[in-house]
Amino acid sequence: MTKTDANSAWAKDRNHVLHPYTDFSTFKEEGSQVIETAKGMYVTDTDGRKLLDGIAGLWCVNIGHGRREMAEAISDQVLKMQYYNPFGHSTSEPAAELGYWLASHAPGSLNHVYYTTGGSTANDAAIRLVHYYFTMRGQHRKKKIISRNDAYHGSTYVAAELTGIHATKNSFDKVAENLIHHVSAANMYAKPQDMSEEAYCDFLVQEFETRIQQLGPDNCAAFIAEPVMGAGGVLVAPKGYHRRMWEVCKRHDMLYIADEVVTAFGRLGAWFASEDVFDYQPDILVSAKGVTSGYIPLGVTLISDEIYDVISRPQCEGGVFSMGLTYFGHPVACTAALKNIEIMETEGLLANSRDVGSYFHEAAQGLTDLDIVGDVRGHGLMLAVDLVADKATKEGFPVTSQMGARVFKKCIENGVVVRPVGDRIVLSPPIIISKDEVNTIVSALHSAITDVS
Ligand code: PLP
Repeated sequence: MTKTDANSAWAKDRNHVLHPYTDFSTFKEEGSQVIETAKGMYVTDTDGRKLLDGIAGLWCVNIGHGRREMAEAISDQVLKMQYYNPFGHSTSEPAAELGYWLASHAPGSLNHVYYTTGGSTANDAAIRLVHYYFTMRGQHRKKKIISRNDAYHGSTYVAAELTGIHATKNSFDKVAENLIHHVSAANMYAKPQDMSEEAYCDFLVQEFETRIQQLGPDNCAAFIAEPVMGAGGVLVAPKGYHRRMWEVCKRHDMLYIADEVVTAFGRLGAWFASEDVFDYQPDILVSAKGVTSGYIPLGVTLISDEIYDVISRPQCEGGVFSMGLTYFGHPVACTAALKNIEIMETEGLLANSRDVGSYFHEAAQGLTDLDIVGDVRGHGLMLAVDLVADKATKEGFPVTSQMGARVFKKCIENGVVVRPVGDRIVLSPPIIISKDEVNTIVSALHSAITDVS
């Protein structure tokens, strides 16, 4: 059977599956690459092409693909107890164990977890918990959320509105017009060249303060930010930024939500990046992806003791917390998370992520010598390469040039998967990666960019 036969996975997929973030008009012609097997750092498609996975699936396969220990743990739990009603007063051992582990390792007093099905739903839960908290405190107007331009917080309606990437909002109606507001991204590459890092940080903090004053501190409930902005371009904030934004929140009795969907579970060399890498303790921490390394969907929303104390008061006016997901604390997903964490611990993967992460950045700096590379930046095992038409002015290419997509295709020919986001190439390999594999990725990218220049 050839790839295009009606019975092939390629044809069935092309004819019947709606893919996320995909131009349906071109998809009808091109269809998808069908990945058939995956092992360690590699995936193989139905044409037998073996590719080094430079993006860990989608920022998530931290422990690498196809691990037998994961399959066994998942299968054992399915046979033991695959699902039972999580509402009210029943639970499972894995959900309880994972809750305990998270509370023991998360920053500060983040001792309580709400389970969801992924990052978007975990962010929705965070916003609903913020609202519930202020309602329980009798502050019914304190509900506005401040997010950032270029942030990515997910795809459910509320998470999509938290998201600040303009292009994702075309053709969608707003459902929370007055609820969610945006301030600038912390973008060191875009900052005016003659402005120091400190002055830029001052500017961002002042802008935040001004926005709160405009909206009214009594109306502002929370700020949400990724420790390192991922899909928005792997943007690392100026030194001290998160702590200072957190201090502004505290001054105005606002909650700080850290969206660690990408940055937790080893991607930046720590369980959680907010405290261990950037030295601040959020009031709410959201994660997903690396918590199970993508073996099974799971999201977690952690809240502080202080929030818990308020929402666990007798419910005079709030009623019960009415966000109820059938798959809350799914025992198989929680088992996968526990096994994933055990693998990271026994194999020292946080240390590997730190060690190989620094090597990754050193090795990738060589790409800045290329004519169309404007910037190479990132932190830990997150890296972005900006492709520009003019390095001096940082001017991008016309959209029609499809530079990012062309580099992506060349990299595939060179045996490596990278992720184009417009004219930016994003990398986030599994955290089991070795220095040799870093060299393979960097040289594939070097030759791809040289070819399209
Ligand atoms: N938050 C961040 C920072 C993300 O990068 C993503 C996904 O890439 C999400 C939230 C949404 O997660 P999910 O796709 O699991 O809903």
